[in-house]
Amino acid sequence: MAMDMHSHIDRILWTEDQISLRISQLAAQIVQDFPAPSSPPVFVGVLTGASIFLADLVRKINLPITIDFVSSKSYGSGTVSNCAPTISRDLNVDVNGRHVILVEDIVDTGHTLYKLIGHMKSKGASSVSVCTLLDKPARRKVDVQLVGEGKFYQGFECPDNFVVGYGMDFDELYRNLPYIGVLKPEHYS
Ligand code: 5GP
Ligand code: MG
Ligand code: MG
Repeated sequence: MAMDMHSHIDRILWTEDQISLRISQLAAQIVQDFPAPSSPPVFVGVLTGASIFLADLVRKINLPITIDFVSSKSYGSGTVSNCAPTISRDLNVDVNGRHVILVEDIVDTGHTLYKLIGHMKSKGASSVSVCTLLDKPARRKVDVQLVGEGKFYQGFECPDNFVVGYGMDFDELYRNLPYIGVLKPEHYS
């Protein structure tokens, strides 16, 4: 395998600068929607894909917020979604009576978020919002914009391609690319 991962990329969909600008806009919107002194929201990142997005997002939010992570198994190593995701790492903080903002890298079929929204509600969250960097509506099976009954923040609409970078992997590689792109076909194997 070539050592230079940038040479594996067929094309870049969003550059570092475009991502950073969009995240500033999302952060400003969230601050407007959850003004102090209402109870500070709990940002729940969905591991591992949303870790980089969450790290950049919360540092642009000037509110005393809480951060936690959950992990859900949905894809194996491939690029095909699973309709029955399971929660493999649960919350550490108590979200009972708190506003939860689920932070995702990408909403594809919607099965993962559907499961996680229900889980947050069962833990007593007073509202469950979603902040996803990418939204891939072409493959949606569950309308997660409706089930959350909270806000739905979306960075960019994603074409129906399997994307990597900025936290998102193919076979646990490429999460550390600072931009989002599509691999050359020979690297999806
Ligand atoms: P869903 O349950 O909505 O089908 O998607 C669950 C998860 O699959 C997403 O949170 C994301 O981690 C992963 N996923 C969906 N589409 C893509 C994609 O294009 N690229 C990568 N790397 N992961 C994806
Ligand atoms: Mg994810
Ligand atoms: Mg993955």
